[in-house]
Amino acid sequence: MSDELDSYRAKHYNSDDPIVRLLEEKIESLTKELEKLRQDLNWYKGELEKLLAPPYIEAIVLDMLPDGKVIVRSSSGPNLIVNVSSNVDIKKLKPGSLVALNQRGSTIVEILPDREDVYVKSFEIVEKPNVHYSDIGGLNEQINEIREVIELPLKNPELFKEIGIDPPKGVLLYGPPGTGKTLLAKAVATESNATFIQVVASEFAQKFVGEGARIVREVFELARRKAPSIVFIDEIDAIGAKRVDMGTSGEREIQRTLMQLLAEIDGFKPLDNVKIIAATNRLDILDPALLRPGRFDRLIEVPLPNFEGRKEIFRIYLQKMKTDGDIRYDILASMTEGFTGAEIKNVCTEAGYIAIRNGRKYVNMTDLITAIEKTKAKNNKAKNSDRTEKYV
Ligand code: ATP
Repeated sequence: MSDELDSYRAKHYNSDDPIVRLLEEKIESLTKELEKLRQDLNWYKGELEKLLAPPYIEAIVLDMLPDGKVIVRSSSGPNLIVNVSSNVDIKKLKPGSLVALNQRGSTIVEILPDREDVYVKSFEIVEKPNVHYSDIGGLNEQINEIREVIELPLKNPELFKEIGIDPPKGVLLYGPPGTGKTLLAKAVATESNATFIQVVASEFAQKFVGEGARIVREVFELARRKAPSIVFIDEIDAIGAKRVDMGTSGEREIQRTLMQLLAEIDGFKPLDNVKIIAATNRLDILDPALLRPGRFDRLIEVPLPNFEGRKEIFRIYLQKMKTDGDIRYDILASMTEGFTGAEIKNVCTEAGYIAIRNGRKYVNMTDLITAIEKTKAKNNKAKNSDRTEKYV
């Protein structure tokens, strides 16, 4: 048939014939349209496949068995012993890998990308923090205590085994904001060669609605993988306040997150090389469940620095700066009663700016006193506006 068509064309084809040209144009546009319809059809087929495909189950690998099977914990709850599909490179699987199971939950069908990045904003991991005890002023007692309950068991667990006592799993630091709680937690991680994982509890419920409990679980899984490690939970009162009435879904979510945290703490042994340090400005509102023996059973108060403490903090920051060599630390300390460590640091920075503004390359006492007055004025203004707000 096509041969006949070709010979007919060869005989009668005349490209100048307007009807022929018209028909050729028509063929061309129909061919294009056909191609476009084919593409649409493929797209719809793809979408239909996606809609009909069964969902996968997310799971995390816990252990590899000698017979090639794998123990996983599925996101829906139980631990499962599963097979590995031949499409998956079994050598790439290791405890902690995120995987997708088929719908029946019987086989690993895919290795998922590591999700640490997704949550990077909800927890910060510092493999090797660089804060030392010598960077902290006025907290010698607290340093000694935290060394005893965190650093010593991380570094010498056998000591505790031999004597037969359990070191605390967790320590709770409490005190006003800006007094060095985070600094203390980072320093003990540095000095114990531990990975420092920081989470801010108030961000759990806010950033990842419905995911708080899961993030807690993942943070601890990460801590175990990166052990020895210290999990630092700042603002723990955001999830650990006394039970509120569970009317709203937000409250239930916070409750679930707290329950998961308690389960994680209860789940590891005192001599495991993961320790938890939590911090709060509101010890008074914490749920007593958190303070039960075997949880945060060691409380360390981090108060406002006293006279000697303030002197030490000034010394720490001013030693790193250029001064005229005539700094009277006792005067600075007596002028800054009630200041936090963070405020003293700001005073030193502000004094540096004042020196630059005055065309000097070093800081003197006048700069520091001006900076102190400025901070006091700012604090008073904040206090007054706070009071006004309360009465309007
Ligand atoms: P928050 O409760 O607001 O989290 P915090 O108690 O954890 O506060 P830090 O974050 O440790 O306070 O302190 C803030 C900054 O203030 C620190 O980075 C440090 O520069 C300085 N600072 C606070 N306290 C001290 C201190 N005792 N010695 C030296 N520096 C300090």
